[in-house]
Amino acid sequence: EERIVEPSLTSFDNSFDNNNLRPKWLSEYIGQDKAVEKLKIFIEAAKNRHEPLDHCLLNGPPGLGKTTLSYIIANEMGVNVKVTSGPAIERPGDLASILSNLNSDDVLFIDEIHRINRSVEEVLYPAMEDYALDIIIGKGPSARSIRLDLEKFTLIGATTRSGQLTSPLRDRFGVILNLELYDIESLTEIIMRSAKILNIGIEREGAFEIAKRSRGTPRIANRLLKRVRDYAEVKENGVITKKVAINGLNLLEIDKLGLDNLDRRIILTMIENFSGRPVGIDAIAASVGEERITIEDVYEPYLMQIGFINRTPRGRIATEAAYKHFGIEYREQENFL
Ligand code: ADP
Repeated sequence: EERIVEPSLTSFDNSFDNNNLRPKWLSEYIGQDKAVEKLKIFIEAAKNRHEPLDHCLLNGPPGLGKTTLSYIIANEMGVNVKVTSGPAIERPGDLASILSNLNSDDVLFIDEIHRINRSVEEVLYPAMEDYALDIIIGKGPSARSIRLDLEKFTLIGATTRSGQLTSPLRDRFGVILNLELYDIESLTEIIMRSAKILNIGIEREGAFEIAKRSRGTPRIANRLLKRVRDYAEVKENGVITKKVAINGLNLLEIDKLGLDNLDRRIILTMIENFSGRPVGIDAIAASVGEERITIEDVYEPYLMQIGFINRTPRGRIATEAAYKHFGIEYREQENFL
């Protein structure tokens, strides 16, 4: 069963809406002030020099707007964007052909760039550094390498874990931007904007309720907005007020903080099975039966943002706020810190 609060793309997400809801310009991009401010400067400088933008690495959890940002960058630079993903590029030749088909100054967006395989990655090094492809011709002792020039281009890599990139790849990005989970205010803005585009009647307090349960993630906010619209149209008069939003979200069984079953199990296992002591991520993963990567990339960032998990040198601990949320009496664990 798919989680409605899943931050990655799911079958809940209609691709037509998804494209329609994407901001096209930096000025429409809500939140992520630090990343946006830097990008504005880099884009303007590159345009003034009539050069392509330096290669950019966008790092952050799924659904925060990395793909959106890469389209915006291309749009602002007035160039085309070609979209692919790390796992989709199987052989070095596939990447060589993508690169040699780019037009001058184009953007190449590679999603999940940390999952690119090593032999493919090596094609990227000279391409990023010198706009060149090194091709090996022949076999054995007579093999030689020739260099083909490429058009200048901008690589935009997106990753949920920049720590997994090899250092030669990471070092070739001139710009590294970290995207953070959105605050409730920004999510409220995003929901109001999406509602306008989709012609949904909504009051700000209604948007605020949806924002609170969107796990800091615009993709989830848009998805919840559409499900609450269904509820508002069928059960109410179509307008999403605060009350309508709360009732609709309760019907969807979305917890007040957007937590789902696995979030609850993660916290409860920390409290009950480990008695509130610091726990290693592998122990948590084994105990809830989920991949460590999924917990680290998808669940933990949000649980940390809402202050339910603290990271200490000795492991993760559940905070007093987490105990409170689950109605469990909190005992001071200071001897473990
Ligand atoms: P990612 O590539 O990081 O997984 P996307 O770029 O696909 O995320 O964003 C998911 C959806 O969230 C997009 O369809 C877009 O409508 C919306 N979105 C993301 N960031 C913003 C933003 N800053 N302002 C408005 N909408 C946004």
